[in-house]
Amino acid sequence: MKKSNAKSNMKKRRWVVKAGSRMVCEGGPLLLRTWMHQVRDLGKKHQIEVIWVTSGAIALAALRTDFKKSIKTLPEKQALSAIGQPLIMDQYNLALQATSLLGAQVLLTAGDMEDPSRRRNLQNTLNQLLKMKIVPILNENDAVATEEIKFGDNDSLASKVAIMMRAERLILLTDVEGLYEDDPKKNAQAPLIHFVAKLETKEMKFAKRSKSKQGTGGMISKLRAADQALKHNIITHLIRGDHPHNLLGIASGESIGTQIGGQPHEG
Ligand code: GLU
Repeated sequence: MKKSNAKSNMKKRRWVVKAGSRMVCEGGPLLLRTWMHQVRDLGKKHQIEVIWVTSGAIALAALRTDFKKSIKTLPEKQALSAIGQPLIMDQYNLALQATSLLGAQVLLTAGDMEDPSRRRNLQNTLNQLLKMKIVPILNENDAVATEEIKFGDNDSLASKVAIMMRAERLILLTDVEGLYEDDPKKNAQAPLIHFVAKLETKEMKFAKRSKSKQGTGGMISKLRAADQALKHNIITHLIRGDHPHNLLGIASGESIGTQIGGQPHEG
């Protein structure tokens, strides 16, 4: 009796992890599998619940259709997103199956979080999925989201979800190690910033130099998302997405990538 009480009283940790379009499209099914393996182990070994935010619907659909070069109009983007969402979920479902997990797709527009009753419904749905040990996989519902009601990018969506769901950490997966003082693709000596207590204009300048573009995001949108999260005491990590251990490494307290907020190297 005592034991089960102790277990149920154990503080649940909750993370929101966001994967960008480039990671998803270039990493493909193998990378998705390493992510879902880590999601399983985060739950089993660290009691961490994960809400996964994925981009890539539009990019994946563009790769599979004749729209590769010029996606310009909103209806084109919306049509591509409708094509791409199930394609992405096919890949996530395969990765989840290989890990004996089950996922659930939740497509959102900004209005779902702004309207109080829709927001509550969304919170209830996500809480219920986590209780059932199902991995919620979120993306913006681009097929119906017009410019006025868009989150803008999935870094911002992920940050808002982290705040709404009172997450402990927001993890943004990128194609570089983290935030550098200069563009690491142009300057191999650029120092990596391991820890930022508070985002200042200096960091925004560094982000502008670092043109790591993924989907509609990039380093600037990641820092903006981190800044919003920080206002709610949520720690953000910018880490390489294509490393098979990075998520688990953070759970074990390793210093990986750039940590924004919290105490340096805390796990
Ligand atoms: N929701 C878009 C997609 O799935 C991506 C948005 C972003 O990359 O920030 O294609």
